[in-house]
Amino acid sequence: MDRKEKNKIKKYLLLQRDLGFDEFYLPESSRRPRKITVKRLGIDNFAEAESVDQLEATIKRCKRCPLGKTRTNFVFGVGNPEADIMFIGEAPGRDEDLQGMPFVGRAGKLLDKMLAEIGLNRNEVYIANILKCRPPNNRDPEQDEVDQCLPYLTKQIKIIKPKAICSLGRIAAQRILQTNMALGAMRGRWFDYHGIKFMVTYHPAAILRSNSYLPGALEDLKRLLKTVNPRKTGMK
Ligand code: SF4
Repeated sequence: MDRKEKNKIKKYLLLQRDLGFDEFYLPESSRRPRKITVKRLGIDNFAEAESVDQLEATIKRCKRCPLGKTRTNFVFGVGNPEADIMFIGEAPGRDEDLQGMPFVGRAGKLLDKMLAEIGLNRNEVYIANILKCRPPNNRDPEQDEVDQCLPYLTKQIKIIKPKAICSLGRIAAQRILQTNMALGAMRGRWFDYHGIKFMVTYHPAAILRSNSYLPGALEDLKRLLKTVNPRKTGMK
């Protein structure tokens, strides 16, 4: 199925959802899971990947930095590979490392609630981290780990081509924008990341520590959605 056909099906399903349908009945034959094989490139040629699936298949056994030896699971990213909005956090935590998915612990659940508050869900966006493996005890990423891993994220962004990126927290923003600016100085501004709008908000884990950040974070997300899709009606 090519991208055009996929877009047509996506539009049809979104229309059905907007009309209030939440279940679809498929003929038995179409429910059988199909095994999709993705050609894996040599890891040194990951930049040639043409899809997120191919990129993931190519880099998922990476051990370029020491975190490759201590991780339980490689955490690539999740969501719609054609999303207009991409969220980028710092690194997998304990739950993410155990499940191999980004933002699945308490902070992830809060992110889901925040998305719901602006009328989105995680299937409509794409979520990733600057590191694909968990730093022990959730310590901050070391510069050499970021140097090794960031090219994977850069490639992921190039494939997804979002209209806007929202950094969840200071560290992801500082590493991506290569700046030492404080979070307070970055929030409320748009940056340009290779032609993609880039903004920063609080990391959901920080909001869990201090609920006083929540209203500001929701305002940031509303501004993000308004910029990317001013006609989106689901906003509360
Ligand atoms: S953190 Fe990135 S560079 Fe380090 S081993 Fe994991 S995937 Fe490779």
